[in-house]
Amino acid sequence: MPPHNHYRNAEYLLNVAALKQLPVDEGREVAFAGRSNAGKSSAINVITDIKGLARTSKTPGRTQHIVYFALDETRRLVDLPGYGYAKVPEAVKRHWQGMLQRYLETRESLAGLVLIMDVRHPLTDHDRTMLEWCTRAQMPVHILLTKADKLNRGPGGNVLQKVQRELAANYPNASAQLFSALKRSGLDEVRRVLDGWLGFNDGEDADKKEPRAP
Ligand code: GDP
Repeated sequence: MPPHNHYRNAEYLLNVAALKQLPVDEGREVAFAGRSNAGKSSAINVITDIKGLARTSKTPGRTQHIVYFALDETRRLVDLPGYGYAKVPEAVKRHWQGMLQRYLETRESLAGLVLIMDVRHPLTDHDRTMLEWCTRAQMPVHILLTKADKLNRGPGGNVLQKVQRELAANYPNASAQLFSALKRSGLDEVRRVLDGWLGFNDGEDADKKEPRAP
């Protein structure tokens, strides 16, 4: 059975330009990161099933804000600024890299990071830097190899295997899956990971004991 979609309740909460403006560090949140144009906004919109929740097809690298969405009183989704956009000045890049690193290393309520990569260009240098910070901070990471619709099943599967081998060798806190926002594929898998991180499954045992309908 597909998991219940808890993400449909997502509502825009706030937009911050500096870490000191972050909401109170309580409850749990899951953040989304990735290279600009990898498909992060599209993934957020499809996971929540809310069209236009995260802004797509903006000028890549322009929106250098952390955007918060509330799921309920204690749970949040966080859209981190896209990285690696070539046209952003070096100093701006460094500023945002520093901010991302501090956020990952210090945010107590951060339960896990979803890292978005284009299945055709996985594990860029920036992606590896993110994975290294997360490994050091013992932060769980789940990689969406998105735009999987751009590859046939065989080649897509090969990329996934290759990435998984690399993760097992160097980033043991990270997992990966194929995803397509266009085809809405891989949704149950990613929602299950998020449910676990955000504690939506705590107390699921009680549900399982309910008698089945005849
Ligand atoms: P972001 O900059 O990471 O937020 O990326 P966007 O979500 O704005 O997507 C960048 C571009 O990739 C847009 O033109 C999207 O339509 C396209 N895109 C995103 N996800 C997919 C997908 O799963 N399949 C395909 N074929 N295109 C996608």
